[in-house]
Amino acid sequence: MGLDKSPVDSLKGIGPALAGRLAKIGVHTLQDVLFHLPFRYEDRTQITPIAAATPGETVVLEGEIIACNIAYGRRRSLLAYLQDGTGRIALRFFHFTKAQQSNLASGRSIRCFGEVRRGAAGLEIYHPEYSQTATTELPDHFTPVYPSTEGISQQRYRNIVSQVLSLMKNGDLLVELLGNIETLFDTNINEALSLVHNPPQDVDLDALLAGQHVAQQRLAFEELLAHQTSLRLVRQEINKLAAPSFKGPGDDYSALISSLGYELTGAQHRVAKEIADDLARTSPTLRLVQGDVGSGKTVIAALSAVHAHENGYQSALMAPTEILAEQHFINLSNWLAPLGITTAWLSGKVKGKKREEELKSVANGEARVVIGTHALFQKDVHFDKLGLVIIDEQHRFGVHQRLALREKGKKNKFMPHQLIMTATPIPRTLTMSMYADMDCSVIDELPPGRSPVTTNVLPDTRRKDVVARVKSACSSGAQAYWVCTLVEESELVQCQAAEATHADLSAELQELNVGLIHGRLSAADKVEAMNRFKAGEIDLLVATTVIEVGVDVPNASLMVIENSERLGLAQLHQLRGRIGRGKAQSHCLLLYHPPLGETSRQRLNVLRESNDGFLIAEQDLKIRGPGELFGSRQSGSLQFKIADLVRDRHMLDEVTRIAQQLLVDNRPAARAIIERWIASPGEFSQA
Ligand code: ADP
Ligand code: MG
Repeated sequence: MGLDKSPVDSLKGIGPALAGRLAKIGVHTLQDVLFHLPFRYEDRTQITPIAAATPGETVVLEGEIIACNIAYGRRRSLLAYLQDGTGRIALRFFHFTKAQQSNLASGRSIRCFGEVRRGAAGLEIYHPEYSQTATTELPDHFTPVYPSTEGISQQRYRNIVSQVLSLMKNGDLLVELLGNIETLFDTNINEALSLVHNPPQDVDLDALLAGQHVAQQRLAFEELLAHQTSLRLVRQEINKLAAPSFKGPGDDYSALISSLGYELTGAQHRVAKEIADDLARTSPTLRLVQGDVGSGKTVIAALSAVHAHENGYQSALMAPTEILAEQHFINLSNWLAPLGITTAWLSGKVKGKKREEELKSVANGEARVVIGTHALFQKDVHFDKLGLVIIDEQHRFGVHQRLALREKGKKNKFMPHQLIMTATPIPRTLTMSMYADMDCSVIDELPPGRSPVTTNVLPDTRRKDVVARVKSACSSGAQAYWVCTLVEESELVQCQAAEATHADLSAELQELNVGLIHGRLSAADKVEAMNRFKAGEIDLLVATTVIEVGVDVPNASLMVIENSERLGLAQLHQLRGRIGRGKAQSHCLLLYHPPLGETSRQRLNVLRESNDGFLIAEQDLKIRGPGELFGSRQSGSLQFKIADLVRDRHMLDEVTRIAQQLLVDNRPAARAIIERWIASPGEFSQA
């Protein structure tokens, strides 16, 4: 495959220091250099007469330096005056060297490039790029500008790119892999990359800036194809492994259903059946169970664990946070103890003797269902016979963790079944692509008798009314959440904000018990705060977004969310899902800090008008984009170099079709494409 994966320091002029800086932006190999695409372009193809340069415009100017002095204003600077036949402009440098001073000496002819602005000396350009006029021809292409090349000048990066582009022209890099595949594109990878890094003057610049030029689409297509093909291939490999085939379900399973005190919804029945059918297979199940907040996923997890137990196998249920894990432990223990099924509890907080006991009962098989945080998968945890792994709220765990967990459960040619439960509604358009390795079930029905949460959007200038509302609700026996959010800030700052809000509200609402929960409390304190809230000892719980996932306190019927305009819709929907779980009518008050922009208004209105997570996700996708939908924390699950799931979603059907076809009739091509695009080939071969 030529030089594709050669390290960047194999190029002339790249030493360890520069290679280190390139590594920071994810550029390790020659191929990476080409896949680090420009995010905008500059037009340096024409010289603008100085008299025609206007403020705000980015221009190429050419002329003679007529004066060059050090100016002592508020800041010392080097000030040179450039003149052509039409006018004069000042070039100002706040940082400059002796060499620059002599390059810009009076009488020199130069060409420079930069943005025109109004300054103390009339029209000025700060820190223009410049060169001696005679040395270079004007480019006949647009000039690329690259994202985040910290510590590497644009000029330097462009030089690196052009070195690599010429290797590519010689045929030393990037063979065409889609050549025999019938696609929508009539451009090959080399043409596409040359165009994107070096677009000719007649290019459709708007399409290019929108990422919609056929060249970019061609590249994104190949990347998406690699991604899907690899997930499918991994799935095929897994299908070759053995898993225990479960008979049943049996009496315990039915007993659990009858003990619930409610009927399963139609959707719960359907999904439970889909899972039970899966578990009868002789190869490992890999199923994603999506269900909106409150749709009742926990009981589905419990039923499958019972099903495994009836067949002599243990289950592991993993949740992303201590609070959620403990809540699952309590629920499952309550359900399973009457059936004589022992549960075990492992989390960071379980230590010493207690932990040893739990580990022992996991190892000797006494514990049938083991519940915990990722502490479940530490080295010293040995299962007797693990047959089923259930992961709740999978979006907190990235794709990498997903693969690692699978490895953990794998022994020789054996692997446990795996269920993944998520409340993050993933638009159907994206599921196929992100989860091509899994089967999907959707619990698309809420338990009956819930009245949907009503939502209001209010400016924070009405805080006083909101506090009064909290007071009257809590005085009549309801409980409330007050969620403090500061997305941009560090966790520390968020927690401080929550502490301050807690102090304020405690003072304003002396007749209420006001509690506090945030990420920097110890695990034990968090759980205690949650338990006191659950027991009704706390009326109003001030919280950061730590409560976003899974917390279930049916008596809580009011939620106030501060700075709601700064959160993603999916996250707001998750938060709001903490209320509306009981019989009482619930209300959510979304506070914003005015003025509210048009997009934010639209977005918050979506929440006001809908309680349907899937619809909200689709709208969110339309208004913003998937980075937001999945949250930056979770971006690990969406690492593409070039593709963008939202922008490129029109290609997904075609990608799916070709991925399937390739795996049938051209596996070498499929492997070559995967090798090219997937971060580390090692990761892939393991899976
Ligand atoms: P999630 O899907 O968000 O994890 P949970 O499993 O926490 O939802 O269930 C939310 C609440 O709904 C719980 O209090 C649970 O006991 C209750 N619940 C679940 N299924 C039903 C049902 N079929 N009928 C009535 N209540 C149900
Ligand atoms: Mg849940």
